Amino acid sequence: TMSTTADRNQQLFDRAQRSIPGGVNSPVRAFRSVGGTPRFISRAKGPHFWDENGTRYIDYIGSWGPMIVGHTHPAVVAAMQAAIERGLSYGAPTAAEVEMAEEIIKLVPSIEQVRLVSSGTEAAMSALRLARGAAGDGKGRRKIIKFEGCYHGHADSLLVKAGSGLLTFGNPSSAGVPAEITQHTLVLDYNDPQQLEDAFKAHGDDIACVMVEVIAGNMNLVRATPEFLQTMRRLCTQHGAILAFDEVMTGFRVALGGAQSIYGIEPDLTVLGKVIGGGMPVAAFGGRKDVMKHLAPLGGVYQAGTLSGNPVAVACGMATLKLIQAPGFYQRLTAQTSALIDGLVAAAKPHGLAFCGDSVGGMFGIYFASAVPQTYAQIMATDKTRFNAFFHAMLDRGVYLAPSAYEAGFVSAAHDEQVIAATVAAAQDAFAAVAG
Ligand code: PMP
Repeated sequence: TMSTTADRNQQLFDRAQRSIPGGVNSPVRAFRSVGGTPRFISRAKGPHFWDENGTRYIDYIGSWGPMIVGHTHPAVVAAMQAAIERGLSYGAPTAAEVEMAEEIIKLVPSIEQVRLVSSGTEAAMSALRLARGAAGDGKGRRKIIKFEGCYHGHADSLLVKAGSGLLTFGNPSSAGVPAEITQHTLVLDYNDPQQLEDAFKAHGDDIACVMVEVIAGNMNLVRATPEFLQTMRRLCTQHGAILAFDEVMTGFRVALGGAQSIYGIEPDLTVLGKVIGGGMPVAAFGGRKDVMKHLAPLGGVYQAGTLSGNPVAVACGMATLKLIQAPGFYQRLTAQTSALIDGLVAAAKPHGLAFCGDSVGGMFGIYFASAVPQTYAQIMATDKTRFNAFFHAMLDRGVYLAPSAYEAGFVSAAHDEQVIAATVAAAQDAFAAVAG
């Protein structure tokens, strides 16, 4: 890609690498997986953002999920401006937080009580501590189960990869995480109900929590099978373990009631983020009252935050939650997203490429593979080299996809027929370029 002296992106990246490790504040932004120069974004509107060179892109990451109504929606901006006039942060309770809690409880029936925090990482970490404190009739337990390919933020207990044997506890997937911590985390294969049966048979009464992405979005997009989730629900109930659905990505994204509303399965705890903040730092965890009562100041599980329920962030989140309840919002979003996938698949076809896609609500996956993957191993077997070439061919044509073959993509309500058609037209050229 371009790296002349006029390339502001390259200039900024060179400068950034001197003051910020790797030049970015979150690793995927560095384009390490796809190569090339990260785009430094200067502004955004609706389905588009512009980089520092003034180049416009159709944005399919939407800040990695939050921007479901499109960028700088006037109703969201107005709500935030009104909130800013009243003060930026108080460290004392507000009416807006109560309204937001009530709104979340109304939209997600398995949530009876909820606490607001500032990031998905914080929400998942806090939910896990709560589960460990509340499991086994409040006596507490140590062990947890997660699945390879699912990401729940970067708390120590959750940065774990599978151990040497399937039923052995995990190994740290990051430096700086002691094995003494990850030895309590069992990492199983996604969509393998038999492994869950075996794990509960071996460790059942010691397991505090099973945490899962109901529709996984951190290994591209992989849907859970109903049997996988039903098995998980049954085993957790039988053994007094807490079932925690991490819906940071899928909450208010795949459907108004989240992925749990699609499968009709109720978890004990739900972790939320992204869309509930509408682009500002709001996340949450909530669930059954008899679990939530273990949280301080009522119970013995400590959790707190200086900026939790921040009034400006909550105003942004509430304005977004109102907009997504407009009649037909999800029908339209779902139709636009599947039109995108249908268009991309049709564009790939004449070139004989192994390419397919899937979508749920406003979330999608594209795969350089002949069939939609159902497991982590199948995701890992997709053609990453082809993906990287396609990513750059699309970027050169003004379409910004996730800069990694292992991330889901996001469509907003502002991605109308014209924007989807322009994307498909770009893809026709891009597929021709990568098929050669
Ligand atoms: N859980 C899931 C399912 C996520 O996708 C993410 C972030 N992509 C997180 C947790 C962590 O959220 P955050 O980046 O806000 O800490």
